Amino acid sequence: MAPPDWSLTLAAAASFCGVLCLCLRFRAGRGLWREGVSKIMARTEKPLFRIAYTLYTKTRLGYLFYKRQMRKAREHYPAGHSKAQPVELNGVKIIPISVLSDNYSYLVIDTASSVAAVVDPADPQAVQAVLEEEGVMLEAILCTHKHWDHSGGNKWLKRLHGSCRVYGNATDNIPGLTHPLSHRDSVTVGRLHFKALFTPGHTVGHMIYLLDGCAGVPPSLFSGDLVFLSGCGRMFEGSARTMLSSLDTVGSLSEDTLLWPGHEYAEDNLLFATEVEPQNTARESKYQWVQQQRSQKLCTSPSTIGEEKAYNPFLRLHLPDLHKALGLQQLPDEDWTEFRARALEELRRRKDLFNRR
Ligand SMILES: [Zn+2]
Repeated sequence: MAPPDWSLTLAAAASFCGVLCLCLRFRAGRGLWREGVSKIMARTEKPLFRIAYTLYTKTRLGYLFYKRQMRKAREHYPAGHSKAQPVELNGVKIIPISVLSDNYSYLVIDTASSVAAVVDPADPQAVQAVLEEEGVMLEAILCTHKHWDHSGGNKWLKRLHGSCRVYGNATDNIPGLTHPLSHRDSVTVGRLHFKALFTPGHTVGHMIYLLDGCAGVPPSLFSGDLVFLSGCGRMFEGSARTMLSSLDTVGSLSEDTLLWPGHEYAEDNLLFATEVEPQNTARESKYQWVQQQRSQKLCTSPSTIGEEKAYNPFLRLHLPDLHKALGLQQLPDEDWTEFRARALEELRRRKDLFNRR
């Protein structure tokens, strides 16, 4: 948790009250407390947003907001927001844990040694319940970034599991961090081998974790708030150029890689993708499947990187049809990467407008 910033102005505090008022207003309807920080911020105008974001990430107010979000979500979804099936492949068991209103934590177990790592334990009690059910020992917390809806349970679990290591990037102010990571560092838990990849943009120190595959078993990517099914995270703390480089890191992975994102946003994201690529048949068939899943509150993870490349507009920024849909053209002296970053900026702007509807 970040220390309170006592230099915050009264105006900033008043603005946060404005955000809280927004929360209360929406509570009667869809219930803003049920939404992740990305969606909350998407509803907030720019100057107000900066202040609210600072308060959320740098003061105790953010932590209190997260605690309230967790309490309300536990009341509203006593069995979790979605039903998820564990996947077991060659001695590796991956269990999506549905937490808060639309987040997923992931428990990854080496079944031979009964040791486990957890990715983004937002609600520590929900994670602890699964650890006890599985009878496994928690050796590591892999934290993608500092937002409370990903890192809020780190300290609670660390207190309970004294030898548990907490991984993340040092620039991101991860609560309870014990093992700072850099790009391409390795993390070993039992027979599980993860590679940490530095992917800033959503936050300054965002990391994603790639679990090695082995014979006949595909690798798994835990992507936090960088990439979702058919979407990407908001660029809270980085330029479009920075975010593009992080998205390119994901795009460079093998197509059979399983994608385990930090939120259940599939339905909304595919609806948005329909606006920019209405003729995309891969998107249409995935949307049909997602609608079926969500009608029964079933988890939509994992997809694969190959699938995402076929319909996720944020991984298709090199395609002329997408540029056309965005009304963009490469300028004569414009670098290709600069142009793709400009396309990303426009695509993200449209997605933010879409979220506000
Ligand atoms: Zn986030």
